[in-house]
Amino acid sequence: MARVPLFCYAGGCCNAPALLGSLATLNPTAWFLAPGEARGRSIPLSAATEIAEPVKLEPVKTYTGRPRVVIVGGGFGGLTAARSLKGVPVEVTLIDRRNHHLFQPLLYQVATASLSPADIAQPIREILRKQKNAKVVLGEVTRVEPEAKQVVLANGEAVPYDYLVLAAGARHSYFGKDEWETDAPGMKSLDDALALRSKILLAFEQAELAETEEERRALLTFVIIGGGPTGVELAGAISEIAHHSVAREFRNFNPATAKVILLEALPRILPMFPEKLSESAVKQLTEMGVTVRTGGMVTLIEPGVVHLGEDQIRAKTIIWAAGVAASPLGKTVGVPTDRAGRVPVTSTLQLEAHPEIFVIGDQASFTKSDGKPVPGVAPVATQEGHHAGVNIGLAVAGQPLLPFEYKDRGSMATIGRNRAIAQVGKYTFSGFPAWLAWNVVHVVNLNSFRNRLFVGLRWIWDYVNYKRGARLIE
Ligand SMILES: Cc1cc2nc3c(=O)[nH]c(=O)nc-3n(C[C@H](O)[C@H](O)[C@H](O)COP(=O)(O)OP(=O)(O)OC[C@H]3O[C@@H](n4cnc5c(N)ncnc54)[C@H](O)[C@@H]3O)c2cc1C
Repeated sequence: MARVPLFCYAGGCCNAPALLGSLATLNPTAWFLAPGEARGRSIPLSAATEIAEPVKLEPVKTYTGRPRVVIVGGGFGGLTAARSLKGVPVEVTLIDRRNHHLFQPLLYQVATASLSPADIAQPIREILRKQKNAKVVLGEVTRVEPEAKQVVLANGEAVPYDYLVLAAGARHSYFGKDEWETDAPGMKSLDDALALRSKILLAFEQAELAETEEERRALLTFVIIGGGPTGVELAGAISEIAHHSVAREFRNFNPATAKVILLEALPRILPMFPEKLSESAVKQLTEMGVTVRTGGMVTLIEPGVVHLGEDQIRAKTIIWAAGVAASPLGKTVGVPTDRAGRVPVTSTLQLEAHPEIFVIGDQASFTKSDGKPVPGVAPVATQEGHHAGVNIGLAVAGQPLLPFEYKDRGSMATIGRNRAIAQVGKYTFSGFPAWLAWNVVHVVNLNSFRNRLFVGLRWIWDYVNYKRGARLIE
């Protein structure tokens, strides 16, 4: 079919059939959830149609008659697993070291002063309050003891299980250069995002007081390492702060002179997208004043300096968005993990050696039937969480388990105001339609009605006013 350009925006073009087709398939709720699943509702077990390879998993009978399911992690995967066990005759204990579920895809908006922490987080206890077979424990799991069938908390307490779901996610990886973390912090938690927010806003305040031009230049240079979605989002947002949010507020310098540099070691940014969308993203970022440098490896990070081989960039704000490694908890289950610390699982999301242990989300290494690994994204964790819950229900009922199939509904990355890229099936689009779709998908997938309402209203307000509502330095 010939592609007829209909809309041409700053970042790229899209055509009418593509756009209509894309939006028609764009079911924002489905973006993060598995088919048949809705918030707090589980798939009936009779939905089982396909049988996986035989799994040796006998139904467990405890003295209460209800098997104990322990879930480690209340992120996308763990929380969905817990919800999908609603109504199943098991006792669910969800353990998390934080009291809240965090919507990580919008963390960068906290770091760049658009949203406040409570807009993207909700107490896990509150989310599960109506689920009678679930209880929540605030605690850090330090290890799994598969032979004893228990997890051990930081306070030494052991929590026994009949089925275990490991969903402890991932953290930053500095590829063996952990000493870089002090000078180039990453962003994984609300604390990280708030620290970054202060760092970014403080740089502008200090630039106002800078005594030399050289000092001011370093304060107004922001380097983001890693050209994945998070790096791109941060670069775009910091550029918008400089050009719009704090414009005309300083007397000794023009904030629009700030330099935002995005570094990527690979030949192109957003390598998980088709090449033409990566090119579109570079174009959109460049139009916003971001310098994109690809194909160069960071060789050293020192206080205020990033080294790229011989080249040096002086910057007071350096942000790491380059790599993740799975939670170290995976190393305690006694099976070899992959290079990123992920635990290999069977087609039914179990451990081969311990079929009563399910591993999901960023902690798991799952290979699709086409031989490709699933990506470390929220929809994978959510779908796997749901599937693990369904499989535990099947095991409890003495039925064979089902193999997991990831339903890829597309990907999108936002860049800034009216700018984004998206891929839905074979359709790609960028600029305003992608940006609008990104906003709808993200607001709809927030956990509570309060957050959906507040974030939606705040985005509309900020869009109209070119402002950021959470510009607080702590
Ligand atoms: C900044 C950022 C932006 C992202 N943007 C996107 C995006 O736009 N789209 C997208 O699809 N994906 C995005 N991702 C990836 C996505 O958030 C993850 O793939 C997803 O969160 C994985 O879900 P999970 O359940 O495996 O882990 P998580 O959601 O990370 O949850 C893990 C949970 O386990 C808890 N935990 C960890 N260790 C322990 C322990 N030892 N004891 C007890 N509890 C523990 C944690 O507190 C956490 O609540 C982003 C990630 C980050 C960090």
